[in-house]
Amino acid sequence: MQQQLTTEKIPLRNNEFTQKIAAEVRYLNRCYQCSMCSDGCPVAYAMDYYPNQIIHLVRFGLKDKVLNSTTIWLCASCETCATRCPNEIEIVRLMDILREESVKAGVNSRVSNILKFHQAFLDQIKKNGRINEVSLMISYEMKSREFLSFPKIKELTGMAIGMFKKGKIKFPSLKRHSTGEIKSIYKKVFSH
Ligand code: SF4
Ligand code: SF4
Repeated sequence: MQQQLTTEKIPLRNNEFTQKIAAEVRYLNRCYQCSMCSDGCPVAYAMDYYPNQIIHLVRFGLKDKVLNSTTIWLCASCETCATRCPNEIEIVRLMDILREESVKAGVNSRVSNILKFHQAFLDQIKKNGRINEVSLMISYEMKSREFLSFPKIKELTGMAIGMFKKGKIKFPSLKRHSTGEIKSIYKKVFSH
């Protein structure tokens, strides 16, 4: 059955964390916990809290639980939840903001290698203007230091050869793409 959009504001806790997040996320105060978002989330099975539960925790001001959750790092920003939400709540933006807050708070995430992957991804874009899978993999492995074991090296080498043979990855190109413009975007975004 089609869910009805609510324009009602459901009261939020009056604490600093809740109010700060609510000021950044449109319609957070409309969530009536229907769970449509979580029911469609492709990675909900791996999360410690479902997306609707994260919203509930934010509304109650339970900052530590939210910023320590694996959910905010496992979210793939696929937008499925936002598309399904009958109240047009900006769930993907919420996850982005919570990741930022988690980094600012210095939370040592249980899935901290995902943060290292994000950093490797951003470094690659900044440096080359686009992503090359081989460079990204090397950059990530250097940051995470996961490669420092023989079984891991064996696994990665096997994977890389298999992907290369199937044409899934290419060697890095020396060509750079509009890095000046990209650097100015980074400067603007990260100077705040
Ligand atoms: S789909 Fe929207 S209203 Fe329903 S639980 Fe998720 S965020 Fe709340
Ligand atoms: S954007 Fe994140 S929370 Fe929403 S459905 Fe996709 S993975 Fe799940």
